[in-house]
Amino acid sequence: MRIDLHTHSSVSDGTDTPAQLVAKARDVGLDVVGLTDHDTFDGLDEAVAAGERLGVQVVRGMELSCSRRSSSVHVLAYGADPASPELAAEMALVRDGRLGRLDGVLAKLAALGVPVSEAEVMAQVGDSPSVGRPHIADALIKAGHVGDRQEAFDRFLADGGPAHVPRYTIELERGIDLIHQAGGVAVIAHPWGRGREHLLPPKVLHTLVDDHQLDGIEVDHQDHDVETRRKLRRLADSLDLLATGSSDYHGTGKLDHDLGCNTTDPEVFDEIQRRLARADSSADRPSPPLDHEPNT
Ligand code: AMP
Ligand code: FE
Ligand code: FE
Ligand code: ZN
Repeated sequence: MRIDLHTHSSVSDGTDTPAQLVAKARDVGLDVVGLTDHDTFDGLDEAVAAGERLGVQVVRGMELSCSRRSSSVHVLAYGADPASPELAAEMALVRDGRLGRLDGVLAKLAALGVPVSEAEVMAQVGDSPSVGRPHIADALIKAGHVGDRQEAFDRFLADGGPAHVPRYTIELERGIDLIHQAGGVAVIAHPWGRGREHLLPPKVLHTLVDDHQLDGIEVDHQDHDVETRRKLRRLADSLDLLATGSSDYHGTGKLDHDLGCNTTDPEVFDEIQRRLARADSSADRPSPPLDHEPNT
């Protein structure tokens, strides 16, 4: 069983449509693929339908933009109900914030001598409901200001970079609670990637497990070197956290994140499915009427 639980389609900042992504998952021999677009569930029905056609199990996921101490923390939600009102409302605020920061970023880019227009960015966004910095990067590439997305991040768009503008995110603890409330399983994505080790030290993860029933952490991820993975795996063992592994595939939008480059152990995936089944069976449902007469 080959299982990759973290990927992005063109419904957020990846470059394959959900159906194309699932077809590629089959081509590289994945049995299970999780689609986890940023702050939207919009690609899931298409991905699931493609999975049914192609014989790939598609896990309904989403990567929620959270933060701790004003620094971004991404939380993967598996099996969360898109109709859960509080989660849906927060996700709408996050998506509005993505759009709302665009003017500020464009003003900064213009002042830095690399102007792009809102129309040029929106041409890259296409139908995606989730406007991301990678789309701004794509507009910078198209305008000839940078060669690739990574250069756009390194020179301008990275957190704290000269054209970075913060946007609305959900407090980490609340994000985890909202995912659980929606019947989902919550796994922190790339917890120690890009210098986040100080932001999520063992003590903090311990508290998230104790007070918010955090389910897991992504251990095998391209942003973690061998030593970081080793430390995180040990930490996951000691805190009884599920340790996942995934590609964080973005199509051609992110180099070195090929589908299936990291995978999740089948036993870990089984446990995720068990927790989802449990959440499902304990969800509030209208009770059947007491005076129900069988139809004749
Ligand atoms: P946003 O969703 O607009 O906050 O942008 C986040 C997206 O940009 C994610 O897909 C990240 O993988 C990517 N990203 C964030 N920081 C960097 C960075 N320093 N270098 C390359 N990609 C990045
Ligand atoms: Fe992304
Ligand atoms: Fe992420
Ligand atoms: Zn991701």
